[in-house]
Amino acid sequence: MTIPPANLPAVQRRGLMLVLSSPSGAGKTTISRLLLERDPNIVMSVSATTRAPRPGEIDGRDYHFVGVERFRTMEAAGEFLEHARVFDNFYGTPRHAVEDALTGGKDVLFDIDWQGTQQLAHNARADLVSVFILPPSVGELERRLTTRAQDSTEVVAKRMAKAGDEMSHWREYEYILVNSDVERSVAAVMAILAAERLKRDRQVGMHDFVSRLRGE
Ligand code: 5GP
Repeated sequence: MTIPPANLPAVQRRGLMLVLSSPSGAGKTTISRLLLERDPNIVMSVSATTRAPRPGEIDGRDYHFVGVERFRTMEAAGEFLEHARVFDNFYGTPRHAVEDALTGGKDVLFDIDWQGTQQLAHNARADLVSVFILPPSVGELERRLTTRAQDSTEVVAKRMAKAGDEMSHWREYEYILVNSDVERSVAAVMAILAAERLKRDRQVGMHDFVSRLRGE
């Protein structure tokens, strides 16, 4: 069952940027997928990346797969809202798609790392809602990383080593979620969203709405 966001469509609202960050293997991908399936008001930000597609990934849906030269051109033209080097590849969020969605009242879900989140906090503070997802234990993190078949053991070892660094950034996020149960985590993110959507400054149509209520 999907519950439409409160106050819509009576009051026009600006969308928000929902950033979910976590070390690989904390369950972020599953949580993101369920949020998108259950809430039609959420759209995913599709990043550009220089990394090669993994099996099953589709250009334009999972990422915009670009070469380093194209990435550099986009960066120089100011087309990224934020961008960062993660492992050995470049990643960036194309600005226009996000701006259009926010203006249209859609909430945009981001799967970006702490470097990107810092940039959004700097460039787009008012639109940002940031959530950091932690695994319930080291053992669970290790298990999730090694059962994911797509990456080589070398990549897995590298990510495991990076997980500690990544997790040290938890303080830079507004909400911290320990993902021991996916359904509970999705419910928690939905609750965060429900409250954040009602923030006064996001309800850009409230002035007109109240004026109408007052017969003005
Ligand atoms: P993957 O290559 O596994 O899809 O992603 C590797 C890491 O890059 C993840 O931590 C993911 O959150 C991050 N990432 C993906 N897209 C972006 C982006 O546009 N900007 C930033 N800063 N990080 C990203």
